[in-house]
Amino acid sequence: MAQLQAVRGTQDLLPAEARRHRTVIETARAVSERYGFGEIATPIFEFTEVFSRPIGETTDVVSKEMYTFQDRGGEEITLRPENTAGVARAVLSNGLTQSTPLKFFYAGAMFRYERPQKGRYRQFHQIGAELIGPAQPQADIEVIAMGAAILDELGVLKSCRLELNTLGDTPSRTAYRAALVAYFTARLDELSDESRDRLGRNPLRILDSKDEGDKALVADAPGFGAYLSDEANAFFDQVRRGLDALGIAYELNPRLVRGLDYYSHTAFEFITTELGAQGTVLGGGRYDGLMGMMGGPEMPAVGWAGGIERLAMLIAEPKGAPRPIAVIPIGEAAELEALKLTQRLRGAGHVVDLGYSGNAGKRMKRANKIEARVALVLGEDELKRGAVTFRDLDAGSQEEVPLDGLAERLKGLV
Ligand code: ATP
Ligand code: MG
Repeated sequence: MAQLQAVRGTQDLLPAEARRHRTVIETARAVSERYGFGEIATPIFEFTEVFSRPIGETTDVVSKEMYTFQDRGGEEITLRPENTAGVARAVLSNGLTQSTPLKFFYAGAMFRYERPQKGRYRQFHQIGAELIGPAQPQADIEVIAMGAAILDELGVLKSCRLELNTLGDTPSRTAYRAALVAYFTARLDELSDESRDRLGRNPLRILDSKDEGDKALVADAPGFGAYLSDEANAFFDQVRRGLDALGIAYELNPRLVRGLDYYSHTAFEFITTELGAQGTVLGGGRYDGLMGMMGGPEMPAVGWAGGIERLAMLIAEPKGAPRPIAVIPIGEAAELEALKLTQRLRGAGHVVDLGYSGNAGKRMKRANKIEARVALVLGEDELKRGAVTFRDLDAGSQEEVPLDGLAERLKGLV
């Protein structure tokens, strides 16, 4: 029944996987709070313009990857492919442009029509941070340091390298763009069709091509360094000095560009060696041009987004819930008492599983299956005596415990 399968590129998060996702999000949220970032949640869909204008018609995201549709009222709607544009829109629509610096953390689902593979999905999830207002390199440093701190707390920083580049200011980019066009134009027949198409519109994007032939050409392409203005160089130096001071190691990658159009100056990616081609776990940079492109005032900003699925694959198995207590009533008379006992235990903070059906043997089996630490058997005899049969499932021992002594007996076990 094909129609009952999940849509290609989407996945169900069953409890173990959901716990991994939650661990990534909760860790990131806790670290970002220490950096003074408040959580923001913007809608999952926006007017298409919110993305198409700033992200740029010539990027892969807008030209090929967006889930765009007309809603029943005829509005052009897009499921968000990323959240920076949505946050920028929220800053403008909530009139927050005077309250800078703004520091936002977010976590949520994003949607891109991509070819699904391990670590690449059509519905995926990102954590992200945006620091809006400051033009100073300290903001870049702080935002990168926060990304590193989150990866460190997740235990994945040690398998990541940080790649760093600058996309310079507008004059630098204009000069570099011309150099790239000259270089690739001379090698036009070696370029993939897609990159040939990018050449006229957005040549910097060729540096990010996933095509093997393009990659070989890109390896010998001119780097940005020679085209950087003095101002852009000075800015980049300050960012590097800050990272050095914090002991955050990085490698310069002069060919690192970001997927979206609105970046300038700092660009960075944390890349793990453990996920093959889908190795970028967290990437971002400075996007001074975004607010202006969206029709707001010019507002410098810097931020990043991290892929939750990729991070979830890398972290150690998170600690699960404490082991449950299984409550097993035997006979109809015990059912209500068991219900009440279960409620009391949960009220006291325990994880409790109440067997609903089957004979005592079957319920005992379930208790073992869910790896209960303790089973409390409540039959007619126990009821009369105001007690339960207390089975320590690890020790394989059992004894009768009066109900009013139960809390004491459970101490230290669950
Ligand atoms: P890539 O070059 O891998 O396509 P990107 O430049 O499109 O990445 P960003 O837009 O910077 O990625 O998104 C930030 C992070 O979100 C990525 O580094 C990655 O970890 C994650 N990510 C992006 N697209 C997907 C996807 N389709 N499925 C899962 N994770 C994704
Ligand atoms: Mg992409």
